[in-house]
Amino acid sequence: MWFRPEREAPPTAGMPLGMADLGGEVRAPLTALAAQWLGVEETQLECSGTAAFTVALTALSGHARNRREVIIPAFTCPLVPLAIRRAGLEPRLVDLRPGHFDMDPERLAAACGEQTLAIVPTHLGGRTADVTTASAIAAATGAYVIEDAAQALGATLDGRAAGTHGDVGFYSLAAGKGLSIFEGGLLVARDDAVRDSIRRTGRRIAGWHPGWELRRTVELAGYTALYRPRGLALAYGNPLRRALRRGDLLGAAGEYFDVNFPLHRVGRWRRAVGARAFHRLAPFIASTTAQARARLPALTSIPGVHAFSDDGGTWPYLMLLMPDEATRDAVLQRLWASRHGVSRMFVHALPDYPYLGTMAGGDDVPNARDFARRTLTVTNSPWLDDASFEHVCAVIEATVVARPGQNQPGAMNGWSSAVA
Ligand SMILES: *Cc1c(COP(=O)(O)O)cnc(C)c1O
Repeated sequence: MWFRPEREAPPTAGMPLGMADLGGEVRAPLTALAAQWLGVEETQLECSGTAAFTVALTALSGHARNRREVIIPAFTCPLVPLAIRRAGLEPRLVDLRPGHFDMDPERLAAACGEQTLAIVPTHLGGRTADVTTASAIAAATGAYVIEDAAQALGATLDGRAAGTHGDVGFYSLAAGKGLSIFEGGLLVARDDAVRDSIRRTGRRIAGWHPGWELRRTVELAGYTALYRPRGLALAYGNPLRRALRRGDLLGAAGEYFDVNFPLHRVGRWRRAVGARAFHRLAPFIASTTAQARARLPALTSIPGVHAFSDDGGTWPYLMLLMPDEATRDAVLQRLWASRHGVSRMFVHALPDYPYLGTMAGGDDVPNARDFARRTLTVTNSPWLDDASFEHVCAVIEATVVARPGQNQPGAMNGWSSAVA
């Protein structure tokens, strides 16, 4: 072929699919393989992580009809409040701990009450959240705990799978999130009765929709073909760069989400693809974990940069907190469009997405806004080679040393000491 696109790293370490995943024998169903691996009796497959969350909320709200609020961190995926509303409930936002992605425990306790149906501790970017504290606060008021483990399939917390500590947990099988069937979500529930009602609710609100399933089938085939270093420019990089040229940050981050997201059954072919690929997930996580552990020191050694880390998490990307917004933006200016897998998690704190409208608690989330302004991500895809990773570190370090946030009259002392 005369045209050969440049190599491009994806923003997250998704596990690539191969042609062999698309056909052939299936030894065990995807849901059974996932249950065995997670150490639970049963998992339930829905058409997305968002759909899984919607099904869980709809089921749980039937058990506690006077509880209408669901507590979520003020910095998370915008699909999360959309799912809450789709289930006929209201999101209540809780601010983060300063300089952290997890909810502030005191604010969480203050927000939780008799009106609270569930608290949603959220494992972001493979890093695990404090489910123990959330569970204690929930127990004191009779609320459920739903773990958002969308970005943490395969992570462990206190020796057990993240997502299995609360009453309910869900995982995403979306494109780029570890194991993917292009769009999909897995649900787990601790209690037999809850599991039963979630299963019935899933059948009721997510029935067959051949049009959606056909579309996802084509998309999964396209993903299999293009999720590779020389396919990603077409599928991901070029649209990203077009959005950045337009100054369209939500488009660049892929955050124009539809209120009317689909709810439908996942077809047999896509289930089989996930089942065939499943045996590669644990080794893929082991190797990306080893890569992340080897690369973290280069990032943590940059003064003023915080790289999040824990013992049992997975590593789709390395999550960084920069000293200030100007420095973060200067790094993104140089790297977001550069094919090195540097990106942003979520562009805004939830109250700052115009399409979400107002939400309870949204007027007081300074730490979530600060986190949104200072965070960036470096892919942990195996396709980002060592030389490219070193380049990324060098750009971050040079940018931090230049201190664009301080580069103004009156800040000269800080400037000269940083250069010295
Ligand atoms: C992606 C994501 C979701 C939604 O999962 P989908 O499978 O994309 O619907 C929910 N929560 C978080 C934190 C996510 O990153």
